[in-house]
Amino acid sequence: MTVDDPIQTPVRVIAIDGPAGTGKSTVSARLAERVGAQMLDTGAMYRAATLAVLRAGVDPESPEAAEVVDRADIALRFADDGQHVYLDGQDVSGPIRTDEVTAAVSAVSAQPSVRAKLVALQQRHAEDAFLVAEGRDIGTVVFPTAQLKIFLTATPEARAQRRHAQNLAAGRPSDLAEVLESVNRRDHLDSTRAVSPLRAADDAILVDTSDLTLEQVLDRLTELVATTIGERHV
Ligand code: C5P
Repeated sequence: MTVDDPIQTPVRVIAIDGPAGTGKSTVSARLAERVGAQMLDTGAMYRAATLAVLRAGVDPESPEAAEVVDRADIALRFADDGQHVYLDGQDVSGPIRTDEVTAAVSAVSAQPSVRAKLVALQQRHAEDAFLVAEGRDIGTVVFPTAQLKIFLTATPEARAQRRHAQNLAAGRPSDLAEVLESVNRRDHLDSTRAVSPLRAADDAILVDTSDLTLEQVLDRLTELVATTIGERHV
């Protein structure tokens, strides 16, 4: 179904929204495993769109950027090792994680036609699968009838600290103050844009992960799945 469905039947979706650095990706992947669902990482699609724009040498804020994305073939496929994202038939799951893409993605994803294209693609994935879908507008726009909506939060300092630790663990140079500034900048851009800004759906359950370990967050979410969707999924 799509959000245009007049009956608005609930889709088999667990929506996980929240800003960068709340542990959303790891939590969503592990929760999907636990409940036997496929994980849909919608940020990866916006990143692939941004990679297309950068490769075309076009300004991410310009109308030409939207045209590049309109022509791009963006697809998600699921393999045993998780989700892979393709741009014009090429697996770009690695290249979409560079700092260059991260710095430009908020501008590209603020373009209305980019969102319209990717939201339609995301909705199609729920037609034949049980999904844990993660992003910024899953509970509000993409799947407003999701069975369970979670909004993960954490203080900017806790989120920057996590990103910083991830960078160091991956052998990437990292400066905590710079990471904090980048977290704040992306929060601001994502939550103040005109189209589908980052915000919790009215019926979302807020989970603050600042002082929780990954396992504690997972236990809390599994509990929520059991009470809202049913024991058979946990
Ligand atoms: O989750 P991730 O950090 O990979 O997302 C990258 C960017 O994609 C976000 O900062 C946001 O600008 C955009 N995004 C979005 N809507 C989503 C998912 C991601 O606008 N549903």
